[in-house]
Amino acid sequence: MAVDRADATAFVALGANLGDAAQALRDALTALGGTQGIRLVRSSSLYRTAPIQSTGPDYVNAVAEVSTTLTAPALLDALQAIENGAGRERPYRNAPRTLDMDLLLFGGARIESPRLTVPHPRMAQRAFVLVPLAEIAPALVSKEQLAAVVDQAIEKI
Ligand code: ADP
Ligand code: MG
Repeated sequence: MAVDRADATAFVALGANLGDAAQALRDALTALGGTQGIRLVRSSSLYRTAPIQSTGPDYVNAVAEVSTTLTAPALLDALQAIENGAGRERPYRNAPRTLDMDLLLFGGARIESPRLTVPHPRMAQRAFVLVPLAEIAPALVSKEQLAAVVDQAIEKI
């Protein structure tokens, strides 16, 4: 008999800058909501942003809130399976990508394992995370955090 796990609220950042990036994000959101144990609660608008510490075309970014019965590592497995399904390759660090899905927050959990750090350690420095996150979960982002990233170009698509 399966043991029911209490649902956790998690936030996922999505980004892409190769091919039809906007379509890749829409497909990823559909795949996320269609994954066993994951319910898509809401997703932000799509945003266009300039690459940071990376090269290539502009990025399309978004943030999604999910409710999940999965553990955080199992949720990361699901995100990586969706990335791989989108043809994600990792030729070098910060390479242009068809799809990147990062786990930002998993309930109130703090996780430090070799393959998973939550809250995502760089989320507070990135307008492409903070702006869409503030759109769907304003209580989670402070004015001070947004003020710290105002110099990063980001526009709603
Ligand atoms: P990026 O740092 O640009 O997102 P990758 O998507 O290739 O690069 O991720 C590199 C590794 O980061 C993954 O193999 C994963 O194990 C690890 N990782 C650690 N914490 C997280 C997190 N919160 N969300 C997603 N990946 C994470
Ligand atoms: Mg990633």
